[in-house]
Amino acid sequence: MNRSEMYRRIQAHPDPWDMIVVGGGATGVGVALDAAARGYDVVLFEQSDFGKGTSSRSTKLVHGGVRYLEQGNVSLVMEALKERGLLLQNAPHLVRNLGFVVPNYDWWQAPFYGIGLKMYNLLAGKYGFGASRILSKEETLEKLPTIRTEGLRGGVIYFDGQFDDSRLLINLAATAAEQGAALLNYVRVAAVTKDTEGFVNGVVARDAETGKEFQLKARVVINATGPFSDEVRRLADPSADRMIAPSQGIHLVFDGSFIAGDSAIMVPHTSDGRVMFAIPWHGHTLVGTTDTPISEPSLEPVAMAQEIEFILHTASLYLGKKPGRQDVLSVFAGIRPLVRGSTAENTASLSRDHTIRIDKSGLLTICGGKWTTYRRMAEDCVNQAATLARLPDRPCMTYNLNIHGCHPNAERFGQLRAYGSDAPAIRDLQQDGRAEPLHPALPYCDAEVVWAAREEMARTVEDVLARRTRALFLNARAAIDMAPKVAALMAAELGRDRSWVDSQVRRFREVAANYLL
Ligand SMILES: Cc1cc2nc3c(=O)[nH]c(=O)nc-3n(C[C@H](O)[C@H](O)[C@H](O)COP(=O)(O)OP(=O)(O)OC[C@H]3O[C@@H](n4cnc5c(N)ncnc54)[C@H](O)[C@@H]3O)c2cc1C
Repeated sequence: MNRSEMYRRIQAHPDPWDMIVVGGGATGVGVALDAAARGYDVVLFEQSDFGKGTSSRSTKLVHGGVRYLEQGNVSLVMEALKERGLLLQNAPHLVRNLGFVVPNYDWWQAPFYGIGLKMYNLLAGKYGFGASRILSKEETLEKLPTIRTEGLRGGVIYFDGQFDDSRLLINLAATAAEQGAALLNYVRVAAVTKDTEGFVNGVVARDAETGKEFQLKARVVINATGPFSDEVRRLADPSADRMIAPSQGIHLVFDGSFIAGDSAIMVPHTSDGRVMFAIPWHGHTLVGTTDTPISEPSLEPVAMAQEIEFILHTASLYLGKKPGRQDVLSVFAGIRPLVRGSTAENTASLSRDHTIRIDKSGLLTICGGKWTTYRRMAEDCVNQAATLARLPDRPCMTYNLNIHGCHPNAERFGQLRAYGSDAPAIRDLQQDGRAEPLHPALPYCDAEVVWAAREEMARTVEDVLARRTRALFLNARAAIDMAPKVAALMAAELGRDRSWVDSQVRRFREVAANYLL
């Protein structure tokens, strides 16, 4: 992926494009990939970096959603379980099978959750990740040696998927580019254009790096801006009603000792009626999440004090070693783009299904759903977009399409596993004296920074530390320490000067302050 090459593609393409996609999260990049793989001409604009929004801030689960089963939404769970299987098949370097233990402290919990989780596995059919089973107290402690033992009776284990969200997104963008899509980060859609009948027929886009503005025409414009969907709908119709009910969720990250072993904890009912997970992730422990309605979405949401206290308190009910504020290495918040329902009283009960809406102006909005189902969402969206744009029908091609980096045995690349088939190229870069870790607390090295700038369209220090590597999400203080070195390496790659380095480090420190307690 290369920004100049993307501009070249855009300049070489005569108007109109088949589709313009606004938003470079899981939904938008998924749509661009689906459209390009079918042979449609598609261009995508992301106002910030790919994944800057919700798509880098998830719980990192590729899952059917045990909770939705309890709500009786069997078809949603079945669809997501199938997508989980396809994602493991198409991106095995980024998705892994993980055991989740529901610890039982009451006699009725083992049979109750045991039956529910058997059903969960049953619904996955041939895409199953492994049979669930009831665990004795000893087996539970073997899987979760650091769990609170007082009152523990046993547990139930089931299997689900875990992934690295922003790495998958970058690999999806690379796959879309390989299929012919043009994708640009740091280009904001500032306005939409309309034909004489008032139908949306293009966009005005502004490059945040150069300030340059340009117009493109398309047969259909697809709004895939997640929590920001209403903002973009209002570009086409200032009186558009709200369809998004934004809800914030936060995670706390601790060192790996809080969950020794390689199983996760799933708490099916917290005191606010939600699910909470404590998951081993990149050698750390990730605990979340909350569900707090908010009035307006922001690109850099900040965890609220009561959310932090809630997670610390709930985690302390299940962990032998009680986590405190001083143990938090990073805290991050994300915004769920939930679709408003007329009857739902709280955001936790709003539908997690996706919605496609076509406004009177012809603007097509796709939102809701979840990371796990991005492929299916894209398939539905491109089907509808092609009809709306009067394009010839073409079959969806993503079912069995390998995602960039796909490698059946990526574990053999050790720390570079997440790069899959790109790992050997990064190893080559390491040969040039670029193998040293950038910080003793994290495994990332110089070669990964160079790779991100050269091959993955990283434009800022934050792109590298937050989304190409996961340093900011794992250990915010370490990430701040790494920033000057990362800025210097990037400046050499991108031809930037000393003042760029200084301003990048300053800006990164400002953003990273939100991830510190
Ligand atoms: C706390 C939390 C935990 C979650 N955990 C999971 C999980 O474990 N598993 C799972 O499957 N799902 C999970 N989800 C859901 C999943 O993360 C989201 O459904 C998904 O990431 C939404 O992606 P999106 O592309 O629709 O939105 P986003 O990722 O927010 O992307 C929208 C993009 O649009 C861009 N944009 C906005 N306006 C413009 C403009 N004018 N021009 C150009 N670009 C613009 C934004 O910058 C943004 O990058 C979780 C969600 C949250 C909040």
